[in-house]
Amino acid sequence: MADISFDIVIIGSGPGGYVTAIRAAQLGFKTAMVERDYLGGICLNWGCIPTKALLRSADVFHMMTHAKDYGLSAKDIAYDAGAVVKRSRGVSKRLSDGVAFLMKKNKVQVIWGEAAIDAPGKITVKASKSEAPKGALGAGSYQAKHIIVATGARPRVLPGIEPDKKLVWTYFEAMVPDKMPKSLLVIGSGAIGVEFASFYRTLGSDVTIVEVLPQILPVEDTEIATFARKQFEKQGIKIMTGAKVTKLDRKADSVTATIDDGKGGTQQLTVERVISAVGVTGNIENLGLEKLGVKTDRGTIVIDGMCRTNVPGIYAIGDVAGPPMLAHKAEHEGVICVEAIKGLHPHAMDKNLIPGCTYCNPQVASVGLTEAAAKAKGIEIRVGRFPFAGNGKAIALGEDQGLIKVIFDKKTGALIGAHMVGAEVTELIQGYVIAMNLETTEEELMHTIFPHPTLSEMMKEAVLDAYGRVLNM
Ligand SMILES: Cc1cc2nc3c(=O)[nH]c(=O)nc-3n(C[C@H](O)[C@H](O)[C@H](O)COP(=O)(O)OP(=O)(O)OC[C@H]3O[C@@H](n4cnc5c(N)ncnc54)[C@H](O)[C@@H]3O)c2cc1C
Repeated sequence: MADISFDIVIIGSGPGGYVTAIRAAQLGFKTAMVERDYLGGICLNWGCIPTKALLRSADVFHMMTHAKDYGLSAKDIAYDAGAVVKRSRGVSKRLSDGVAFLMKKNKVQVIWGEAAIDAPGKITVKASKSEAPKGALGAGSYQAKHIIVATGARPRVLPGIEPDKKLVWTYFEAMVPDKMPKSLLVIGSGAIGVEFASFYRTLGSDVTIVEVLPQILPVEDTEIATFARKQFEKQGIKIMTGAKVTKLDRKADSVTATIDDGKGGTQQLTVERVISAVGVTGNIENLGLEKLGVKTDRGTIVIDGMCRTNVPGIYAIGDVAGPPMLAHKAEHEGVICVEAIKGLHPHAMDKNLIPGCTYCNPQVASVGLTEAAAKAKGIEIRVGRFPFAGNGKAIALGEDQGLIKVIFDKKTGALIGAHMVGAEVTELIQGYVIAMNLETTEEELMHTIFPHPTLSEMMKEAVLDAYGRVLNM
């Protein structure tokens, strides 16, 4: 049994854990990172990355089936589901191997196994069944001046609609389907649900989404979510909002869902497969947190602006430290956490500046306040909009369906929210994130030169629209 001391030990190797480990090593800390399953965590292995690889295959398939729109012809268009999944798994493997390389390069020691905290400064690692990367330390007791919990999250399970891996999937099974279902029910219309709905619909499944809240993509601006909904419905996705799946009857190769339609009626829907995408909950169990008195709240660890828990020497970052449960939030929290430990006085995370992206077709991206949230805060606002139909590049791409919307504080001219739906908006949103981070005003945005022809020109047009100066509409 090993008994080794480190300055910092991070539990979990997701985007939160591994980025934290690299930054800690850069700051001169003797660092180790414990992982029990896959280097790179959910994000690289079962989340952000493999879904984007699947969606890329769906996009290429979509383009091929629309070849005629571009003056091209493509015959015998088909897909091989096994090959699509294989590509996605290969992309994940490549990135997971990349994490092993980065740990080596930065002299971060990987410890392979399941960690629990015995006391501040002390952890025990139990052996894991999965294969350890070369050079990793194994089970044993380890000392660390600072312990950072980055254990991520897992699918939330709702009573009555428990996943069973065969007929009722979580994102794990949905990413490696045993077959392409002819019909699919997606419960929940957050980013994960909508991305899978988009993927399966593009490849031909008959898809129904049931969402308990009044709008799909519940965290997004209502106008943008409504726009996206119309596009999904045009593609043939059936959507029920304000509705609830109350029961699932499982047969040999199908499931019948009972749906409370929220209007006093119930409906039955029989599908081949169901995806439960009703959110995630933090991995806070079996870490010794209760024994140590670490405060938790509804399945996540409570932290302050520097990622400290209420117990000195124990920190938490990423999904396990609460929403928004996004990879870039996890990474940034990790950097704040170790820089604070080093005494560098980093800024605490401003959650209002965390962008959110959904990679469905059309894509959705946003940062800052929605129109409703700004109004609820009593802020007097100016709103600008620009449709993709007014942009030369969008039309040239054959992507004229989309909308960019910006929200300014009328009094100060500060950009307080930006919301987008349409092609490549997940790449565009960062322009507004930088602008908001630099506390940019409308004046500066209107004086910024955007290259032509690009989709980004719409970002300027939306700003001009907010001030009655739109050019191309
Ligand atoms: C289908 C899907 C798609 C997603 N798409 C996006 C996206 O496009 N963009 C985005 O920003 N986010 C996306 N997310 C969310 C993103 O994956 C998470 O926010 C991110 O992975 C959180 O990172 P993390 O480091 O906190 O935890 P994780 O990535 O969950 O990593 C935690 C790691 O800790 C390990 N672990 C847990 N307990 C222990 C223990 N006791 N001992 C040792 N190891 C342990 C786990 O095995 C895991 O590897 C998606 C999620 C899903 C499920």
